Amino acid sequence: MASDCLFCKIAAGEIPSTRVHSDEELYAFRDINPAAPQHILLIPRQHVQSVAHLEDQHAAVMGKLMVMAGKIAEQEGFAEQGFRCVVNTGSDGGQTVDHLHLHLLAGRHLTWPPG
Ligand code: AMP
Ligand code: ZN
Repeated sequence: MASDCLFCKIAAGEIPSTRVHSDEELYAFRDINPAAPQHILLIPRQHVQSVAHLEDQHAAVMGKLMVMAGKIAEQEGFAEQGFRCVVNTGSDGGQTVDHLHLHLLAGRHLTWPPG
């Protein structure tokens, strides 16, 4: 755990969040400032800064994270209607929290391309 990392603290329960899923490797919770009617964040418990910092050793947990996105979409009832998975990376990518996270967005028609 990175001691100064917001999402490490959320995964550890040190900062409150609205949990959607929790297991040994992953944690999912509702975004505090939702950009869609459904906005869930999925994170690995292990601190990784961004996609640009992934190494081969992270492949299994990142695979599980994507599988879990689909399972949560099913559980929350928006899998059939559709949803979007986004991983903002770095400054130009719009990343504001330096702990890799997948945004799971749903509940309205999402436009493309993003801004
Ligand atoms: P990004 O801009 O891609 O780094 O996404 C960071 C996301 O974290 C934003 O959508 C924020 O609304 C969200 N966020 C920041 N702080 C919290 C928090 N304490 N609980 C839940 N979501 C948060
Ligand atoms: Zn972290």
